[in-house]
Amino acid sequence: MINKLIKDKVQTLMPELKEISNWMYDHPELGDEEYQIYDKLVHRLIAEGFDVEEQYLDIPTCFRATYDSGKPGRTVAYMSEYDALPAIGHGCGHNLICVAGLGSAFATKELIDKVGGKVVLLGTPAEENNGAKVDMAEKGTFDDIDVAIMTHPGDQNYATVGSLAMLAIEFTFIGKTAHAAACPEKGINALDAVINTFNNLNAFREHMPSDARVHGIITEGGVAANVVPERAVARFYVRANEKETVEYLKTRLINCAKGASLGAGTEMSICYYEKPYDNFRSNMQLSNIYFNNAKCFGIDDIKLERERAGSLDAGNVSHVVPTIHSIFKISEAEVVSHTREFASATQTEFAFENLERTICTMVKTGYDILESEVNLEQIKDCK
Ligand SMILES: [Zn+2]
Ligand SMILES: [Zn+2]
Repeated sequence: MINKLIKDKVQTLMPELKEISNWMYDHPELGDEEYQIYDKLVHRLIAEGFDVEEQYLDIPTCFRATYDSGKPGRTVAYMSEYDALPAIGHGCGHNLICVAGLGSAFATKELIDKVGGKVVLLGTPAEENNGAKVDMAEKGTFDDIDVAIMTHPGDQNYATVGSLAMLAIEFTFIGKTAHAAACPEKGINALDAVINTFNNLNAFREHMPSDARVHGIITEGGVAANVVPERAVARFYVRANEKETVEYLKTRLINCAKGASLGAGTEMSICYYEKPYDNFRSNMQLSNIYFNNAKCFGIDDIKLERERAGSLDAGNVSHVVPTIHSIFKISEAEVVSHTREFASATQTEFAFENLERTICTMVKTGYDILESEVNLEQIKDCK
């Protein structure tokens, strides 16, 4: 009965959700610059009767929208991402994440007047580069939220994911310019410090824990081959299963850079150029509820948990509130994320059909929490 109600409601929402997602495909906006879609969502949520806190936490494209039934009860939050990638647009499919959150919030609003409580939609910018969820988790956004739910497109269906803790670190080395042939002895080569940082790091790789992932690029390495480079810059991501391992790897990487800098005779400075992401902590009790609901809505091939892969800003959320971050399949054939092919797959009928089933699952999972049959304390205690 409730499932039928949810199904019918989500079905009526689908044409609008498709239209918004396809519009986003045609108008991709980078992280922290998602002004157009932000405006669209805010207007739409206000029209639907949500109370919207705009530019939430002083982030220009972030919002928190709440619909309060006026009756006591629990609070369920859905999360929408909407940032795209440089050059390949929605190659991570955040256009579908966006409408999955919006559709879930609208459908849950229909149910909440009966069961009580509140439904919240969080607009979370810049997942790819500067995740707003990090600030949200830090600044108490989830203090009055019982469960947070989102989904992400992929090439399989999973109720939950593993993700790695991650840190972004940049080294700048300053040397001294000189003519590289006429008076090289007067120069200090900053590029040498960068190259030796990579060499030191590569020697350390043999002894890293097996879950470590450290990968870097040279963003500045001199301006002309006949000028000794006076400035060179390298950026790295450091990842591992746990934050503690990332801290250890960070210390060792900094030592690699310090040694390289000393050898080259440069000055070195360090900056953390993006927010650090925590690993995703799957809540197995909540994930099982989602898993069973997915089966009821026809996602027959869903698996419980995907192995750890990249990093997510939802990881930080999962450490402060029970969180669902499911994956839903958007293509029959294997399709790799962060590609143009993946972006194209977000526009297919296959993707929208599974999106519809996924939204139903998200709404039913939210409903299970709201209608109080689920023991929330047990979920909160579940690791
Ligand atoms: Zn991505
Ligand atoms: Zn993504």
